[in-house]
Amino acid sequence: MDCLTEMQGKQAHDPILLEKMNTTSSWRCICVPGPLIVGAGPSGLATAACLKQKGVPSVVLERSNCIASLWQLKTYDRLRLHLPKQFCQLPLMGFPTDFPTYPTKQQFVAYLEAYARMFDIEPRFNETVSRAEYDATLGFWRVKSVGIKGEGTEYVCRWLVVATGENAEALVPEMEGKGEFGGDIRHTSLYKSGEEFRGKRVLVVGCGNSGMEVCLDLCNHNARPSLVVRDTVHVLPREMLGRSTFGLSMWLLKWLPIRFVDRLLLVLSWLMLGDTARFGLERPRLGPLELKNLSGKTPVLDVGTLANIKSGDIKVCPSIKRLKRFAVEFVNGKTENFDAIILATGYKSNVPSWLKEREMFSEKDGYPRRPFPNGWKGGNGLYAVGFTKRGLLGTSMDAERIAEDIERCWKHEAKHRTAFTRSAVLQQSSP
Ligand SMILES: Cc1cc2nc3c(=O)[nH]c(=O)nc-3n(C[C@H](O)[C@H](O)[C@H](O)COP(=O)(O)OP(=O)(O)OC[C@H]3O[C@@H](n4cnc5c(N)ncnc54)[C@H](O)[C@@H]3O)c2cc1C
Repeated sequence: MDCLTEMQGKQAHDPILLEKMNTTSSWRCICVPGPLIVGAGPSGLATAACLKQKGVPSVVLERSNCIASLWQLKTYDRLRLHLPKQFCQLPLMGFPTDFPTYPTKQQFVAYLEAYARMFDIEPRFNETVSRAEYDATLGFWRVKSVGIKGEGTEYVCRWLVVATGENAEALVPEMEGKGEFGGDIRHTSLYKSGEEFRGKRVLVVGCGNSGMEVCLDLCNHNARPSLVVRDTVHVLPREMLGRSTFGLSMWLLKWLPIRFVDRLLLVLSWLMLGDTARFGLERPRLGPLELKNLSGKTPVLDVGTLANIKSGDIKVCPSIKRLKRFAVEFVNGKTENFDAIILATGYKSNVPSWLKEREMFSEKDGYPRRPFPNGWKGGNGLYAVGFTKRGLLGTSMDAERIAEDIERCWKHEAKHRTAFTRSAVLQQSSP
């Protein structure tokens, strides 16, 4: 456990040092006695709640104007949780019993709002963290945020919790001829409903859960979707043998080796869905669970898209070679006309853009370098929540561990902190 050393404790309430911190910066400076959490999505909220329950106050910074901005602002209308609710609940508070097994996004957001209320979490909205760096002289993190009017604030804190998510920025691929296309090209984070594409020829790029579901939504709104399938993909039924496929897999893994469970899932999928390769959806060489463990690639849980692929209502296409005027040329040499393109090409972490630290987080992908379940803790009071590639289940595990770890330091440091908070609540406005 790397708790505040005696030296750091003294520095923390050294008026000369604190004065230096304040005057070297033209930013408003706020000293946070407890942890600073960046991001008010499910991960940030879960961590704040677990800390609160242990008597540790925290400050949550959020770049948008609401909690769970990914869910509220960047997802399509028909979205439901992909996994049953018992695998998606945050620590300390379950979903209401009258919620369905797969809550709608509106229900999930209502749950998160109730969660924030229950634990009295009030994030500081419209504050984008633009830089965070450990100040070894002080023994504290210096975190800079920018408000919507460009106003800067510097937070000084002992613990920094990164909760900005695996989906912080949309991944938009380069495509030759993009400027020529002329039609609507948008990422799924900007797609709401198939309503506005009624009657149109739409090419959906990417065959993960989002791409498959957007295709289904387009079909349901009488659009004409085609799906670009570049890679191999595991499509599994959402339910098997009267249970959720995810729940069944978790249960089987308690008793059986992963390869055996994978075999079983594939046999059942074959019996229920047929040979997906016949419809252009080749399966990877590794089984769905092994692949998820090794690469983080999530299997698609089918909610009806496959039936539309089988019936020909959704056409499967190979990779794109280039875009032309309202048309797409594929790598097989064929060209087809389209009115719009939806990019279901995923997201990326934004951590390398603001966190000046390279030991815990990889600069390449913005994820913790140490694999699950050891990626949640770094050095100097740095933590990561929600970077496990295991959805909300991973979030809950991280949040609980982080809160326990910080609580130990918090109690240990109670003596220094009293002096620190008394002398160090600096509120200096910009000149
Ligand atoms: C369409 C879709 C469906 C999904 N369905 C499921 C599911 O059914 N079950 C499941 O377990 N998982 C699901 N996931 C995975 C999903 O990532 C998690 O459910 C969850 O949203 C992760 O929470 P998070 O708090 O880690 O990240 P986010 O929800 O992305 O929250 C991160 C927050 O940090 C803020 N932020 C980012 N950068 C900064 C910055 N520099 N400064 C300040 N704030 C910042 C963002 O605005 C955001 O509000 C789904 C994801 C998607 C995209």
